[in-house]
Amino acid sequence: MKYYKKYLDFLLGKASGQIRWGYLIFFVTYRCNAKCGHCFFWEHLNKKDDLTLEEIDKISKKLGTVQVLLLSGGEPLLRNDIFEIISIFIKQNKTKVVSIPTNALLPGHIAKATERLAKTYPDITFSINPSVDQLFEKNDEIRGIQGSFDRAVETLREVGQLRRTYKNIELVVNTTVSKSNYRDIDKIIEYFKRFDLTYHNFELLRGNPKQKEISLPPLEEIKKVHSKVLKARNYYIDRNNSGFFEKISVLGITKYTQSLKEKVLDSGHFPFECSAGQNIIVLEPNGDVKLCELLPPVGNLKNYNYDIEELLKNAASGQLRKQIKTCKCTHVCFINMSIAHDKKTLLKVPYYFLKWKNRKSA
Ligand code: SF4
Ligand code: SF4
Repeated sequence: MKYYKKYLDFLLGKASGQIRWGYLIFFVTYRCNAKCGHCFFWEHLNKKDDLTLEEIDKISKKLGTVQVLLLSGGEPLLRNDIFEIISIFIKQNKTKVVSIPTNALLPGHIAKATERLAKTYPDITFSINPSVDQLFEKNDEIRGIQGSFDRAVETLREVGQLRRTYKNIELVVNTTVSKSNYRDIDKIIEYFKRFDLTYHNFELLRGNPKQKEISLPPLEEIKKVHSKVLKARNYYIDRNNSGFFEKISVLGITKYTQSLKEKVLDSGHFPFECSAGQNIIVLEPNGDVKLCELLPPVGNLKNYNYDIEELLKNAASGQLRKQIKTCKCTHVCFINMSIAHDKKTLLKVPYYFLKWKNRKSA
């Protein structure tokens, strides 16, 4: 029920004007302790221009309701004031879900920060998302750090243990699918079943990676990966006793978004206007605002009195909004928010669930 309920809450919240932003992707720091070959933010890493806590507080005060806060970077947990930053959004923006992708290189520190958050805010869901893209040394190669796989495993054990005490912690492994791992997807899925995961998430490589030889596999291979991913989602739903309604909504939405991505890759056709800048927005560490992660900034909040609504009235935002009407890509956050705009999604989800089920038993 959780997944569909979140979606219904979003639709009702938007309709009643109670939710301004479904998703805020906040690149909270430029600092990073990894050197990943597939990083699309690599050109900006380790600059010293992060917003201060006071500036973040000013931004939050004028932001309105933010349903899901996704903290990115850099490595978000390298900020010493991460607890205070998250608290600001929970208190001032009524944020209900905080998602923290992490390179998982600092096991003890991540578990400690997670426990503090989960204990202080029992009604908020904290989704901890360690990124692991391969097994053992192959993962270390991709991350550019020796021992990164072992540290990720330690993080998974520690956060998994916390889940026994704190029911508001979700643990989701994030794997970026590229030419460097698509042949090993079966082994990767199998390996992580030993941890107490909420589920294992797979996303297609996006943006402009540091190592140019890392690119997307051919479409036919992506389709094969997609059906393995659905099987894995089904496994975790059953293992976590999530119930039939959750099964329909999770598998239906996953299958639906996968088919949209395949259409984009195949024919360049995306049957929606992307909702970038309408219900999902990106804030960079220095206060730059982007309508989407993959397009240039439309302005810096420091020049608009930290008021995002004022900034969004500027000419650059208007121009980019026109450009976005014909824009397409496979970025899942933006696809999810775009389909959330469409009331037909409520019917498409069971339709795609049945499509998956029939294909499975065919
Ligand atoms: S992908 Fe993430 S963890 Fe890896 S270098 Fe880039 S910001 Fe750091
Ligand atoms: S379609 Fe993709 S690249 Fe274009 S605005 Fe949306 S998220 Fe950005």
